Amino acid sequence: MQIVIMEKKVRVRFAPSPTGGLHLGGVRTALFNYLFAKKHNGTFILRVEDTDQTRFVEGAEEYIVSCLKWCGMSPDESPQTGGPFEPYRQSERKATYKQYADQLIADGYAYYAFDTPEELDVKRKEIPNFTYGLSTRGEMRNSLTLTEAEVTALLAENTPHVVRIKMPANETVSFTDLIRGHVSFDTNLVDDKVLLKADGMPTYHLAVVADDKAMEISHIFRGEEWLPSAPIHILLWRYLGWEDVMPQWVHLPLILKPDGNGKLSKRDGDRLGFPVYAQNWTDPKTGDLTKGFKELGFMPEAFVNLLAMLGWNDGTDQEIFSMADLIEKFSVERISKAGAKFDFEKAKWYNHEWIKNADAKTLLPIVKDAFAAQGTEISEDDYLEKVIDLIKDRCHLLTDFIPQSAYFFIAPQEYDLPAVKPKWTAEKAEFFNAYTSLISDGLPATALEEKFKELAATHNFKAGELMLPFRIMLVGGKFGPGVFDIAVALGAEETIRRIKNAVTAFE
Ligand code: GLU
Repeated sequence: MQIVIMEKKVRVRFAPSPTGGLHLGGVRTALFNYLFAKKHNGTFILRVEDTDQTRFVEGAEEYIVSCLKWCGMSPDESPQTGGPFEPYRQSERKATYKQYADQLIADGYAYYAFDTPEELDVKRKEIPNFTYGLSTRGEMRNSLTLTEAEVTALLAENTPHVVRIKMPANETVSFTDLIRGHVSFDTNLVDDKVLLKADGMPTYHLAVVADDKAMEISHIFRGEEWLPSAPIHILLWRYLGWEDVMPQWVHLPLILKPDGNGKLSKRDGDRLGFPVYAQNWTDPKTGDLTKGFKELGFMPEAFVNLLAMLGWNDGTDQEIFSMADLIEKFSVERISKAGAKFDFEKAKWYNHEWIKNADAKTLLPIVKDAFAAQGTEISEDDYLEKVIDLIKDRCHLLTDFIPQSAYFFIAPQEYDLPAVKPKWTAEKAEFFNAYTSLISDGLPATALEEKFKELAATHNFKAGELMLPFRIMLVGGKFGPGVFDIAVALGAEETIRRIKNAVTAFE
């Protein structure tokens, strides 16, 4: 499909509702908005859609802002930064929406509905799968069934009411989605959604259209779950007389469960043991903590990279992209229609690649923070940097640095004795005692290894049989990078001390 980027300036918005933690699907929506904006020298806007006061959750907005910041996608306009189209919180724009509801009513595109919750309940019981719309609106208490005088009287008495869109009969609403191409909906199948609620607050449907117009949004990137709402929004753009400035629609593919069966939900993460939120989220009401990628030990660069690859690629085999690469390469044409399966092992692979390729200086403050979070303050930066260089290849998560590097700071308290004891001999003890006299500071790992091998030969050992005990002496277990590299990092004094302690312990 040929995609024409409109002449007008690119202005895109990420429009979350502050109802809880930010799901990785939400962050990916933010990311695709951000990439598109930056690619086209446009503006990335954060608009907080908080018109549903019943779902509002304290702290959720601050949390969203912090997640965006962590990912390196700070908005150009937002409730925090301000901007030319303030305010950026819908609850603060309440006064602006009613005029549109009034206009729609006056033009015959919307109507007042006075049905009480009890009356609606009765209908729901009476009619299976009740929806308020074409086939039922004639039986309800609304300005289509009441006389003008009755409606005027009800309004004069301040009778609670909502405003609903009047979906037209037998029409097809069609539009071009930049990912899906031609999309059409039969209006008979879409219900008469509420536009303005009894408390005077707009619903999402009215507010989203009014604000996308007011904020001069050029492209709407949002999740596929919003596709069924598109016909309502398109009709509103048309009915309000704004169709000539309607944004382009881009409905992003779903992020699916690992087995591909349905959308990835928060519960799937809990069930399968991986996070689905960007950062830790504590529900202020229940105190329940839901784990995030950040705290689990993901680098933000890796998180952004893996999200970008959920539904997009650049057409080559390249998998590792920095934010700058993504901005350069991003194109809507290469977003796939099909849902993207989320694979946590692959997510860790991205993180591993980013950790492996990061230089020790960049990782230093992050690893220090990880240690500090566990109550260990590390002050020897140079030493920690050396350690990071030695072990970063082995870390999939930033938190892996702690178990992987603990022995560089604390001598082993326990040894994997079953791995050494059965083959331990007095001759081996003698070999190691002799080896301590060959170790000195300033020798590179290669020299230490050479001396080790020569000495092994004079003691009639194959060097191979002595490597594992040596490793267990320094590390405590069968893991870690090259044992001579470890010895160099520890320094001669500490290496010798560990050998001597272990020789005693192995007896
Ligand atoms: N407020 C909606 C949400 O919570 C935004 C949908 C849209 O982008 O139109 O995701």
